[in-house]
Amino acid sequence: MTKYFYLDGDKKLGPFTIKELKDKNLNRDSRIWYYGLEEWTKLSDIIELKEIFSSLPPELTTRKHQVNKEIFGTQKTQNITSQIEVPKKKNDTNIKWIIIGLVALIIILLIYKSFKNQTDNHLYESISTSSYESDEDFQMYVDKFYRDVGVYGIFPKKPKTTIIRFAKLDQLHNTTHIHGLSYGINDDDRIEIYINPSTWKSFNKPMRYFLMYHELAHDILNVDDLDEKTINEGKLMYPAIADYEKKDMDDFIESSHALFEEIAEKQ
Ligand SMILES: [Zn+2]
Repeated sequence: MTKYFYLDGDKKLGPFTIKELKDKNLNRDSRIWYYGLEEWTKLSDIIELKEIFSSLPPELTTRKHQVNKEIFGTQKTQNITSQIEVPKKKNDTNIKWIIIGLVALIIILLIYKSFKNQTDNHLYESISTSSYESDEDFQMYVDKFYRDVGVYGIFPKKPKTTIIRFAKLDQLHNTTHIHGLSYGINDDDRIEIYINPSTWKSFNKPMRYFLMYHELAHDILNVDDLDEKTINEGKLMYPAIADYEKKDMDDFIESSHALFEEIAEKQ
């Protein structure tokens, strides 16, 4: 009668008869050897031991293998394939929602942009139509500005059109620049600045210079406002120039020249 050995981890156990083997804790993958076999062989590959392995439930690893086969092959087992495809479907749904979200966001941004353009245009219309000529010599500030930047080797183009007028900016909605507003930014052929007459009346001489040079720097040098942070306080492009009541002409000269020097260095 054939005697069988089996592997339990690294341990070789045996010899056993078939009857004895039945009582061992074997599975279909257990490695078996008997005299005449060249190498350790899977229990399920040994026909003589069919009565043992056919009574054993299939192993999970074998099962997985079958599942894969079923998915990629033609015959699909309904409940198993659905288990596998559920996460994939979830992913597809997620991607779908992400795309829908992005499209919606783009549409909202476009609507917002066109709405903003409309209100901006509307604001510009009401400012320019309600503006009026002042008897202030605004051109003096412009000429002085060009001379000052020239000292720093900055020679911006002199525009064909210069419009500097009073406009009651504090009576308009949607404006953060209630003291002065520049529309010639990024347009080198045009200086277009509106000054709030009540601001002009209340501002002292250094503050008027701060305001005019601030707007001219926007318009001629295309410089943006600085953030309204304490670190920027005192600078020409600080947005809250109305707080500059205690500044004198020396402060103004220092601030404006600091900006010109900064721009000259970048050139
Ligand atoms: Zn500004």
